[in-house]
Amino acid sequence: MAYSYEQLEQWDKQYVWHPFTQMKQYAKERPLIIERGQGSYLYDVDGNRYLDGYASLWVNVHGHNDPELNAALSEQLAKIAHSTLLGSANVPSILLAKTLVGYWPGMSKVFYSDTGAAAVEIALKIAYQYWKNIDPVKYAGKNKFVSLKEAYHGDTVGAVSVGGMETFHRIFAPLLFERIEVPSPYVYRMEEYGSEQEIVRYCLRELERVLEEQHDQIAAVVIEPLVQGAAGIIVHPRGFLKGVERLCRRYGVLFICDEVAVGFGRTGTMFACEQEEVKPDLVCLGKAITGGYLPLAATLVTEEIYAAFLGDVDEDKTFYHGHTYTGNQLTCSVALKNIELIEKRGLIDSVQRKARRLAEWLERLYEIPIVGDIRQKGLMCGIEIVKDRRTKEVFPRAAMVEHRIILEARRRGLVIRPLGPVLTFIPVLSMSEDEMAEAVRILFDSIACLYEQARAELL
Ligand code: PLP
Repeated sequence: MAYSYEQLEQWDKQYVWHPFTQMKQYAKERPLIIERGQGSYLYDVDGNRYLDGYASLWVNVHGHNDPELNAALSEQLAKIAHSTLLGSANVPSILLAKTLVGYWPGMSKVFYSDTGAAAVEIALKIAYQYWKNIDPVKYAGKNKFVSLKEAYHGDTVGAVSVGGMETFHRIFAPLLFERIEVPSPYVYRMEEYGSEQEIVRYCLRELERVLEEQHDQIAAVVIEPLVQGAAGIIVHPRGFLKGVERLCRRYGVLFICDEVAVGFGRTGTMFACEQEEVKPDLVCLGKAITGGYLPLAATLVTEEIYAAFLGDVDEDKTFYHGHTYTGNQLTCSVALKNIELIEKRGLIDSVQRKARRLAEWLERLYEIPIVGDIRQKGLMCGIEIVKDRRTKEVFPRAAMVEHRIILEARRRGLVIRPLGPVLTFIPVLSMSEDEMAEAVRILFDSIACLYEQARAELL
């Protein structure tokens, strides 16, 4: 039975608590209620269509309702939906682990979970225990983690602990474990430090200072490689990631790369780490791993790390961590098909080609005076909105300028999301050039429209 929009809206507001959402504000708005998707488009319950400019939270690779992904799922469903990895194995999780390891020279084992936050949490726990397993006395003090200013690694207590976004941190501070924050190269807002490369050198010097002083208390450095997504698409200049790796090696701390947002083609290579040829000790994968179909995440570790967990049954070397759906067959089978299709359809080459065109189109947004900075890596874009281009001051939060731009874009047929003052455009990876050009046109018109309104109200 089909329900009316009004009925669904009422029940949504009555029963559903939305993530990251001030529900008092939400209650005043007209929610978008999605019913189906096709290719790059989302369709609401009234049949209106919208370009999916946030890839359904950065996950969608081949478009919605892909026949080959659907078939892979149906095929697996006809066999079994789920059995546990606790004490048994299953075919898709074996094949997927082998496939993932194949992309990461130096990695040897895959630990499955189901959200990006869990993949990070697992990496942190493994890194912590690794040191205790190899020498509990010598490494008794290696209990801290280093991460970047404005880092985002998810919302479990461990993942929030290594996060650097004040909004998520503040309220939970008493629950969190110790983290050391180091600056990240946010070029747009660090002009006083000089050129891009001077900013990189400054950030690496600060990291080195911390590692030099405290390496015997530090288990690992955790970083989002190339792009800090949730912080507002902060694109790190070339050389930063490699520099972090070099310092981790020099000071004997583990190097964790959180590829949850950037993995599986988003930045123009299968994985972001490839672009600086770094070899982390642990890698976290999630989001696009299933092409946007089902929740799955994975933590990969090197043989050296894994070997530290091998011991006799009466030794305390076992990794005591697991989830009920760890290695679920449906999620692993769709992930396998997703990866197969990325290769078969030449997706990485097409992302690179489209990213070059997109960069040209986005440049036009600078014609609108409230566009302060445009940042892009592959098909991951951030447009920072400012009240004053010269001072880089942002609009007051209460004016909700970015939110209003999003609503305007939605009215015109594009869904995107703001991250603070930054509009993000993170399209379905298979979005065609024509669709992308249309999305940028809508983006332009929506920002221009709000500029006119803001000029009247605020400027
Ligand atoms: N790590 C990074 C870099 C992310 O961007 C995110 C989510 O945006 C996470 C971890 C958390 O992933 P999830 O929301 O699946 O828990």
